[in-house]
Amino acid sequence: LTVGALRRAEIIAVGSELLGADRTDTNSLVITQGLNDLGIDVVAKAIVGDRFDDLAGVFRDALGRADLVILTGGLGPTDDDVTRDAVARVVGRTLHEDAATVDGLRQRFANRGLAMPESNRRQALVIDGAALVSNGQGTAPGQWFEWDGRVVVLLPGPPREMRPMFEYIAREVVAPRTAGEQVIRRSLRLVGKSESLFDEMLQPLYRKWAAGRPVIEPTILAASGMIELQLHASTRELREAEDALAAAAEDVAAILELDVISQSGRPLESVLGDLLRSRRLRLGVAESCTGGLVTSRLTDVPGSSDYVERGVVAYSNRAKTELLGVPEELIAAHGAVSEAVAVAMAEGIRRMSGLDVGLAVTGIAGPGGGTEAKPVGTVAIAVEGPDRARFARLFRFTGSRDMIKIFASTTALDCLRRTILRA
Ligand code: ATP
Ligand code: MG
Repeated sequence: LTVGALRRAEIIAVGSELLGADRTDTNSLVITQGLNDLGIDVVAKAIVGDRFDDLAGVFRDALGRADLVILTGGLGPTDDDVTRDAVARVVGRTLHEDAATVDGLRQRFANRGLAMPESNRRQALVIDGAALVSNGQGTAPGQWFEWDGRVVVLLPGPPREMRPMFEYIAREVVAPRTAGEQVIRRSLRLVGKSESLFDEMLQPLYRKWAAGRPVIEPTILAASGMIELQLHASTRELREAEDALAAAAEDVAAILELDVISQSGRPLESVLGDLLRSRRLRLGVAESCTGGLVTSRLTDVPGSSDYVERGVVAYSNRAKTELLGVPEELIAAHGAVSEAVAVAMAEGIRRMSGLDVGLAVTGIAGPGGGTEAKPVGTVAIAVEGPDRARFARLFRFTGSRDMIKIFASTTALDCLRRTILRA
């Protein structure tokens, strides 16, 4: 092989439609997954329109960064399909027509009783030195070649054509050229503090992992009121790396304690579900500002009927009184968004339905309805039960209406989890 071990990949999605507001590049996600599984990092991705100069520039830059460049799209028969030409120009090679491909294309059209338009011959143009990749689903073949210590791959844009062709490339071209290392991942879900605070608390572990064997690299990211801590290690010793990641996850749990929802990437809803089930607790949820989102998330988990008994959306004051028995005077005295009313809602749903645990959320999702004392994003959460356990707190979230609803629901589920664990 004239190419050294491949380590760094770049993916270029070609197509002006992908730069519009209603199409998104999904090919690169499929490709990234496949490359990561082979221990190759994707170091950059680009989306570029169907302009020769733009594509040539982006492709030239990619060759400066990556030892594997995969382009998708722009292999069609028309003049605005420029991938073959732009790539050939940058690597200083010419194109030639592949006779067998022209025959294959003619045959494809003939099978449907059609004559092949002359423009389709463009799809039989092959970069000198490139090998063809057959396309079982469409007309444009893919191609790949080695150049200056790198591998360049051209695949068609339509995802159902691209995917099997990429699988072939991954297996036949990329896998034999890797360093033989695989990337092992583990994802921890955290909740209860900000991303930056978690990051700060974990600094000592980061230093320990960086100095260990195998090196464990962390990535921390926030999503929907939760924090994901991804750990990964490159290794030839699969078992050893898995053990190292398991030990690293335990290190995190020792520091963050209850803030760790799961060490295996399992979502809050299902971790909480298992907790309720294992303790044989039956739950009722009373929601105001989340409009049923808490119950919806709980019931996303198959088998949740084991522990979710009911959910009530009590949006108006009248509903809080009629459905949950919250005293009118209490609402008048404290306001509908208050710890006192959240507690009364949680007590109400628990008592009226004879359940083990009541969970309640009431808040101001905005954009209107905020006051000086209770701005938009103020949310009261209460848990009543199990037994004498109880929890109530006023939270203050920021963001758009839908973000506040998501934060409120995540926090409500987490408050319930913590209350049960502490009970
Ligand atoms: P080919 O290389 O097969 O000729 P093309 O660029 O000529 O591809 P287009 O007509 O531009 O084909 O695109 C075909 C379809 O594939 C379109 O629906 C397009 O949005 C989709 N597509 C192209 N690239 C991507 C991508 N990176 N991710 C998801 N869809 C894509
Ligand atoms: Mg295109």
